[in-house]
Amino acid sequence: MCGIVAASAHRDVTDILIAGLRAVEYRGYDSAGIAMQFNGSLQRQRIQGKVSVLENLLASHPVSGHCGIAHTRWATHGVPSDRNAHPMVSGERVALVHNGIIENHQELRDELRAAGCEFTSETDTEVMVHLVSAFMDQGADLFTAVKSAISRVQGAYAIAVVCAREPGVVVGARKGSPMVLGVGFNEHFLASDIHPLLPVTNRFIFLEDGDVVRIDAETYRVEDA
Ligand code: GLU
Repeated sequence: MCGIVAASAHRDVTDILIAGLRAVEYRGYDSAGIAMQFNGSLQRQRIQGKVSVLENLLASHPVSGHCGIAHTRWATHGVPSDRNAHPMVSGERVALVHNGIIENHQELRDELRAAGCEFTSETDTEVMVHLVSAFMDQGADLFTAVKSAISRVQGAYAIAVVCAREPGVVVGARKGSPMVLGVGFNEHFLASDIHPLLPVTNRFIFLEDGDVVRIDAETYRVEDA
């Protein structure tokens, strides 16, 4: 087990995400990372080691933004390393964090490679970010692209995804791994459990297997299977 924290708000959420990662440290992990939307692009930092190591990295390579995703990884596919740490990105346009295991990752990797996709990690997770990106290339919005991507994967996942072209939007999905939606006042959050969100809200919606969720600062939408 490991952790996800994501947020969309009208304020800088970087510190909320990092404090949130500390609150899920108890779940165990080997690396940590964060991706923020900033002025129409994505900023990502990730590193093997503790959240404190990520914080040191952020001190010299800061990120900021009103919308972002953060992750602690417990490696299942690919060694613990900077290169295998989440968030995974596709073309610097889509960033994704994942808890769980994608069972048909090899078959999807072969298919995506044949279509010209370049992989930069050994993780099972990376197939999902490239799938989301491929569906967006075909014209889908992020919510639809995530739904299409998860229809292709077998296994267990909780994911949170952001893309450069939809400011303020985070899309999440879960099957077999936990995810909770935190409802604030003009801000919304996703996390593996309520602990990282207790400083920012006391209103929670516990997502069920098969749910896909879209949050921005003002709204949330949950679609079931
Ligand atoms: N299977 C993924 C990986 O090895 C996610 C592991 C996790 O749940 O943190 O990167």
